Amino acid sequence: MDGIREIIGRIADGRMGDDEAAEFLRVVFEDGLPQDELVEMTLAMRDSGTKINWNQNISRRVVDKHSTGGVGDKVSVSLAPALAACGAAVPMISGRALGHTGGTLDKLESIPGFNTEMTFLELKNQVTEIGLAIVGQNQDLVPADRRMYALRDLTGLIASVPLITSSIISKKAAEGLSALVLDVKHGRAAFMEEREQAEALAQSMADAANGMGITTSVVLSTMDQPLGCAVGNALEIVESVETLCGRGPHDLEELVCVQAGILLAASGIVEDMEEGALMIHNSLNDGTAFAKFLDMVEFQGGNRGDFASDHSMLSSLGLLDRNLLSTEIYVEGNGWINDIDAMSIALACSELGSGRKTLTDTVDHAVGAIIEAQVGDEIETGEPLIVIYHRNELPDGFSESISSAFSVSPESVSVETRITQIIG
Ligand code: URA
Repeated sequence: MDGIREIIGRIADGRMGDDEAAEFLRVVFEDGLPQDELVEMTLAMRDSGTKINWNQNISRRVVDKHSTGGVGDKVSVSLAPALAACGAAVPMISGRALGHTGGTLDKLESIPGFNTEMTFLELKNQVTEIGLAIVGQNQDLVPADRRMYALRDLTGLIASVPLITSSIISKKAAEGLSALVLDVKHGRAAFMEEREQAEALAQSMADAANGMGITTSVVLSTMDQPLGCAVGNALEIVESVETLCGRGPHDLEELVCVQAGILLAASGIVEDMEEGALMIHNSLNDGTAFAKFLDMVEFQGGNRGDFASDHSMLSSLGLLDRNLLSTEIYVEGNGWINDIDAMSIALACSELGSGRKTLTDTVDHAVGAIIEAQVGDEIETGEPLIVIYHRNELPDGFSESISSAFSVSPESVSVETRITQIIG
């Protein structure tokens, strides 16, 4: 067999036909790859397109995060501005919602005028100027992965640790990072439901990225319940802004502070993760992270005036659209919330139009839900449980089905941190 670099080169430029390329992918899917070959394959994939070379252009350390995705997972929207406020540079290339998981680009596009399409040069210029940009993939980013991913999709070869590792890490490596944090979820609404599977993927991605010279850590966290209170694109932006102003829900703020704290430590901006988490926490409370978010909104075509007051922000995001209906669902029974099934909430919001079944579907940015009663809360009949924001009348049985996502215990429930392990 040819060397792995030669194979990836032939896949990227089309010299290798679909059948031969699919056969190569099947061999990796079935037999796996030794670590050194996985690093070599990931490097070759990275080199198939344009890489950002920061040279002397930037004095900041260049960092990013990747999440395996979940429900209400809006960490990136607060994390990137907070990191920029603390002196790091974040050229974040993000994805879109698919299936039950949300996408950072869709959330940001609920801000009127916000543009997520940029060339590498524009991305580099914006990051050099203000310290961050959050954009979508462009044609020049790892063309080898684009072809390999399409073939994997066609041939059912998606769920493979080495193929996922090389796909994700090659794209992150093209950003020219010096440090990366991987936010790997496990639980019933995660890509990898079992913790052992999530750990194996996390270790493989961390080993590959570290093997390429990117200082990489992993935060493993649970994705059984939605993260924070908001699910749905515009609603999640509102909650991200609350977080950027120091008023975010505890679970979301913890993930932002820990992951960004790890990156500040890996960049040498602070001594350790604890100091980094505190610095990030301070940036959320002193207005500097929010100021960076507003810079990003303005640079990417939005209007910072939309965020001048809660009222105008909600209005411009369409949440006060007179066509948008809201339905409050109330608690029946007394006790303590001990579980909220993220998958049921995600599927319900997706049915309202907030998500995508296939990549070509369009999303309704305004619809979604705000969870009013969180795990650990004591509740009584008649109190608000969840508010649904919707465009059309709710389908029959919708309210009953979304209420059944909540489990109630007769005894008080303790709230645990979502973080189960930090590697590296
Ligand atoms: N996301 C990617 O970019 N690639 C994969 O293989 C899986 C998820």
